[in-house]
Amino acid sequence: MLEVIALEKRFGETDVLKSIDLTVHAGELVFVIGPSGSGKSTMLRCCNRLEEPTSGAIMVDNERITDITRHDLDRMRLKVGMVFQGFHLYPHMSVLKNVMLAQVKALKRSKPEAEARAMDMLDQVGLAHKAAAMPAELSGGQQQRVAIARALALDPKVMLFDEPTSALDPELVGSVLRVMKQLREAGMTMVVVSHEMEFAREAADRVVFMDGGYVVEQGTPEEIFGAPKSDRLKSFLSRVS
Ligand code: ATP
Ligand code: MG
Repeated sequence: MLEVIALEKRFGETDVLKSIDLTVHAGELVFVIGPSGSGKSTMLRCCNRLEEPTSGAIMVDNERITDITRHDLDRMRLKVGMVFQGFHLYPHMSVLKNVMLAQVKALKRSKPEAEARAMDMLDQVGLAHKAAAMPAELSGGQQQRVAIARALALDPKVMLFDEPTSALDPELVGSVLRVMKQLREAGMTMVVVSHEMEFAREAADRVVFMDGGYVVEQGTPEEIFGAPKSDRLKSFLSRVS
């Protein structure tokens, strides 16, 4: 479903991604861990060309997205849902309008169709009752769930999450992780960068450890947390747990 092949990214003199290879199968939840500055966000951002790769290829749903022209970027980005640390909801629009907007603008859905889809997605994240609310009236966890609903409403092939809970108060983290777990059970393909190791143990099919611009080690949660092989992973785990 998502394939990253020999991906390199340089910022000026800095080699951030040296050669990243990663395959994510349909329906898989792949969890990405690694020290700060190891290139996790850069890798995710390359997957919808928010960042232009220096070299290498990325395939999404059998399309080589690294080759498509700028003109086709918007269409491609619809396939790749992205949820960040901050929620970036439009503050002057209701929750419902936030979830409808890109459906109408980018997918050219009719308003009634977009509204029905938005209500379905809000229901899925447990927030149908907040459809008329403004973003500022919601908690951080609720806002993040709206951001997830907004991405889902565009029928993405894969969802990328970059530290979706790290800006939230601890008591709000659980509600967002629960939604992500439900998504996984519904068969969504997901790549999640997060420090929620407990969640990785419970929900991840595979854990990928990045360091120094490479994927250093990957395996099941049991393998990565229970029997790390490389010294770099052992040292990382001893620092974070
Ligand atoms: P964290 O866990 O702190 O979020 P990360 O693994 O997501 O870290 P990235 O944000 O991908 O790391 O950054 C990797 C490296 O690339 C860092 O050294 C960063 O300074 C550098 N970098 C990222 N974006 C840019 C940019 N636009 N210009 C120059 N350097 C950048
Ligand atoms: Mg990051």
